[in-house]
Order: sequence, then structure tokens, then C-alpha cells
Amino acid sequence: MRHEYECVIVGSGGAGLYSALETSAGAKTAVLSKLYPVRSHTGAAQGGISAALGNREEDKPEWHAFDTVKGGDYLVDQQAAMILARDAVQAVYDLENRGLPFSRTKDGRIDQRRFGGHTKEFGKGPVRRACYAADRTGHMILQTLYQQCIKNKVAFFDEFQVIDVILDGKTCKGVIAIELATGTLHTFAAKAVLFATGGFGRIFKITSNAFANTGDGPAVLARKGIPLQDMEFFQFHPTGIKGLGILITEAVRGEGGILRNSAGERFMEQYAPTLLDLAPRDMVSRAIMTEIAAGRGMRGDKKIDDYVDLNATHLDKGVLEAKLPDITDFCKTYLGVDPNHTPIPVLPTAHYAMGGIPTDLDGRVVVDEKGGIIHGLYAAGECACVSVHGANRLGTNSLLDLVVFGRRAGIHIEEYVKNIDFPAIPSDAAAEAEAQKWIDRLTDGKKGPHGGHITEEMQT
Ligand SMILES: Cc1cc2nc3c(=O)[nH]c(=O)nc-3n(C[C@H](O)[C@H](O)[C@H](O)COP(=O)(O)OP(=O)(O)OC[C@H]3O[C@@H](n4cnc5c(N)ncnc54)[C@H](O)[C@@H]3O)c2cc1C
Repeated sequence: MRHEYECVIVGSGGAGLYSALETSAGAKTAVLSKLYPVRSHTGAAQGGISAALGNREEDKPEWHAFDTVKGGDYLVDQQAAMILARDAVQAVYDLENRGLPFSRTKDGRIDQRRFGGHTKEFGKGPVRRACYAADRTGHMILQTLYQQCIKNKVAFFDEFQVIDVILDGKTCKGVIAIELATGTLHTFAAKAVLFATGGFGRIFKITSNAFANTGDGPAVLARKGIPLQDMEFFQFHPTGIKGLGILITEAVRGEGGILRNSAGERFMEQYAPTLLDLAPRDMVSRAIMTEIAAGRGMRGDKKIDDYVDLNATHLDKGVLEAKLPDITDFCKTYLGVDPNHTPIPVLPTAHYAMGGIPTDLDGRVVVDEKGGIIHGLYAAGECACVSVHGANRLGTNSLLDLVVFGRRAGIHIEEYVKNIDFPAIPSDAAAEAEAQKWIDRLTDGKKGPHGGHITEEMQT
């Protein structure tokens, strides 16, 4: 079956929906998503979105950009970091104006809390920079953007999984998707395609990521010979629920929670004397594993699955109830513990892909070291690598990345499609035949190793 849209967006998380908002202002836009849109992993984001609004104390985009570069171990594209920090302020107010119900200060402004690696005056001490809606910030972003896309008459193809991209030399001409309900293949001809397929934490056994985070976008493009960037930089979040990997947001530490070892010591004093428990994630994760290796985990057996305690029992009861209600629920449901009275057993969990599909500052996919591009091919969000997070992303900078760079890609696409005709593409049958070959290879089930076994081996 064949469809024609000026712009096709693959993925309906924060990045895909924000881009769609921009492209749909001038271009006929379709969003394809293998999930129902608001089930995207963006909806699981808890802690917040950063912006130097300065609502609780003085803050500046320059400080935010510095923290982003330093937190990324100086492997960040510094121009991208400046854009991220500068555009953050307007981006958050845009979300507010579009209806996002942020948590508020007593005088009615957007409230802000502390998060790892975010500092004032170039590292002097923690700053309140994370804007949040309780511990459901991503959920609120998705709902807000989805309703705005519906208003803008974006066409949604829910539960359509993209399995191939149509490239003709240096031009992208569309995608092939499988409709999950029927197994039918669909060809989407497009002037521009944006990949916003999210992360790939599911390559690991213990991860905070949803089951759907399997890295389809980077895989589809890699199969076509497009190189991926910074794939060795994968972030481990320090506080996953032990054994399960389910995320306990950094906001618990932002609100005053403390990590302790078996001797009851606040061990981050040894590793990061200024920022303590709010040091960047890579530092805190390494500190936890160092404590465990030294026999100071809670069990003390030096095994890799020992754990440390995240203690929030000293916080006011009202703080957990008002600002971290979902976390309290998770602990009760999955661990049978009430964080008001019992410390939470935590261990680092695979969390975020800094690397992915290489792009320039406008979301165009870059295919070689000279900055060569494929016309009409874009990427944004966690599947993309605009290199704004370097080797380690700061908490709350990802939701911001979706909005800032999703918006920039959307604006670029809207302009780009105005000036070109629909590209001629081969007949549906020819375009779909190649995709069908892939499906057949996976489903004939007669030769070679079992896909499930390969997955398990890789994850372990
Ligand atoms: C538990 C958790 C908490 C987090 N908390 C925070 C936080 O507080 N602050 C912060 O800044 N960041 C946070 N992050 C990181 C952040 O949420 C993610 O990086 C971000 O939401 C990714 O958004 P995205 O739009 O790129 O992709 P996603 O929201 O993951 O969406 C991907 C979309 O692509 C679609 N898709 C994928 N493959 C295909 C395919 N083949 N065909 C069609 N559609 C496809 C999916 O259906 C989905 O709609 C958190 C992450 C996790 C896992």
C-alpha cells in the first residue's frame, strides 16, 4: 500500500512530536510509531527538564553550557551545548504556553530543583535548574505535544513499525513500514524523513529502558551503510532498583536523598567533595561499583550484583508525597518497601545512549567525516548524536535535547520541503521486495542460530 506525505516522522516520543509540530505548520506530515504515541519512553521520564530560568536562585545559560561540556568529559560539541543552554529558556516557556502543567513555586512561577552536575558560577555548587511536573515530567510533555499535534492535523499511523528506508544515492525518498495488526507492508513516499526512534538500552540485561527501546532507527540506517557515532558512550544511571534496573530518579537525591554503604558512610564525600551525591552520573556509578568491589556494598561479598542504599527516610514526608509520588509507588510495588521508612536498594542501570545517528545542528544526517549529508534525511532525540552530550549526558538535558533539536530539525524540514518536488521512487513492489527479504530471513526459522538466544547472550 502506498502513501505520500511531504514529511514522514518515525517515532512519536518527545523528539518526533516536537518536530511534527514544527513541520505540520507548512508541510503535510505523518508520524509513524510502532507504539501507541503516548506509550513512548519519553513518558517514563521522571525528574525534569533543565533551563536556566533562575526562578529559585540566580542562573545563566552560560553556566548551563559549561556544565554540559564538563559533564560530557569535554567531548561535547561546544556550539551545540551553547544552543542547548540558550534555547532552553524559551523552549520551557513554549511548553508551558502549550499547556504543560509544571509544578509551581508559591508565587506561581515554574518550580526548579537540583540535579546532578548542574552548578552555579562554573562549578561552585549545585543550582536549582530542573523544571518538573512532580515525577511525571516526560508524561506531561508527551500529553502536551500529542494534543497539539492532533490540533495541527498531523496524520498518525499507530503501531506501524518502520523496517527500511528508501535511499537513492544521496537522497532519501521514504520508508517502508509493517502494519503490526495485519502484517501488511506500506510504502511511505516522502520529501523528508526524520528518525526519532529513541534509545537502545535493551541491548543490556539490566536497564531502565522500556522493552521497545531496541534501537531500530540506528539499525535501519546502519544496514544501509550509514556510520553511527560515539556508540561506545553508554550511560549507566547510578540508581536503578537492584536486580530490576527500574529507575529511581536522580530527583530523589536532588531533593536531599543520600547514598550510603554498609558502614553507613556517605561515600560520595570521598569521590566528589563539592557536589557529593549530585555529581555527574558516570562519577556516581563508578563510585558505587568501587565501594562494592572494596567489600563495602550492603552484602559485603564484592559481587557485581551487591548494592548500596539510597536513603530518603530523613526527608519530610510531604516531599515524597508531593514531589516524588511515582517513586514511592514503585518502591512499594516492586520492592515492598516504603521509602519514607526504609532505604532503597540501588545499583547502576543501563540508561542512555549518548551516541547514535550522526547529525549536524539542524538534524541533517551526516554520512562522512567531511560533513557530507543525504538530502531529506534527518534524525533527532536519543537515536541521534548531535554530540551535545559528549561521553556523559547530564540529567534533565535529554528532554531538553528533544525539544531544542527536535524543533530545529522540524524548522529545517519545513523550509527544505517547500523548494523540492516529490522524488520519483520505484514501484511499491520493488521498494517493498527488499524489506520482505529481511522479514523472510527472520521468519523462515530453519537455518542458523535462534534470534532470541543471540539477544540474550548480547544482553548478558
Ligand atoms: C526511566 C527513564 C527516565 C528518564 N528520565 C529523564 C528525565 O527526567 N529527564 C531527562 O531529560 N531525560 C530522562 N530520560 C531520558 C529521556 O526520557 C529519553 O532520552 C527521551 O525521552 C527519548 O525521547 P525520544 O523522543 O528520542 O524517543 P522515545 O520517547 O523513546 O520515543 C521513540 C519513538 O520511536 C518509535 N519507534 C521506535 N522504533 C520504531 C520503528 N522501527 N518504527 C516506528 N516507530 C518506532 C516508538 O514507537 C516511540 O514512539 C529518562 C529515560 C528513562 C528510560
